[in-house]
Amino acid sequence: YDINPLIIMNFYKNKKVKKEFNSSKYNIPDGVGTVYASKMKNIALKERIAGIDFFKDLCNLSIEKELSIFLYGSEEGIADKVKKELEEKYHGINIAGTLNGYVKESEALKKIKEAQPDILFVALGSPLQEKFIIKNKKQFSNIKIIMPVGGTFDVIAGKIKRAPKIIIKLNLEWIYRMLKEPKRIFVNIKLIKFVFL
Ligand code: UDP
Repeated sequence: YDINPLIIMNFYKNKKVKKEFNSSKYNIPDGVGTVYASKMKNIALKERIAGIDFFKDLCNLSIEKELSIFLYGSEEGIADKVKKELEEKYHGINIAGTLNGYVKESEALKKIKEAQPDILFVALGSPLQEKFIIKNKKQFSNIKIIMPVGGTFDVIAGKIKRAPKIIIKLNLEWIYRMLKEPKRIFVNIKLIKFVFL
């Protein structure tokens, strides 16, 4: 799982989901908030790993290991655009299927199973994506890697821009996003609450 402050705020009171996160093979500390919080708890995580960077690493790994990928989530057309982008940038990548994130759950399950991917990226935003994975992962027992990726597809498709590199380096990407998307007021309130928590 990708563990960023928003996701922590969404689930820190939810025992079932916390158990699920804790039993996951790999969790990624996405967000400086996660790293600082770990330091306060004497579990010194070294640095932030942005979900989107890990996504790209997995794309490279998929080529090396000959694993196929399914892209599920975002608005109609976005996952297809991501497929095209990835096929251009990552030679030999195998995208087994794409699906927008606004279809019925039963349709999503059917399409994903039919495509038989090795890797499933779920871009429904939090908490939807985590709930989808937890609820359905038993049905995906043949899938080797399942990762929730939030707004990653929107960034790769060029719908949303990431902060300039210097801002990312200075660990200020979250503030940049807050200012850029003030509409995400509830997300922003949660992030401020996280700081106090
Ligand atoms: N989304 C979706 N289905 C839904 C609700 C949201 O596919 O029912 C998509 C939405 O189009 C967007 C992503 O989920 O691409 C949410 O991105 P956001 O930036 O909110 O996620 P975050 O990175 O903050 O977790």
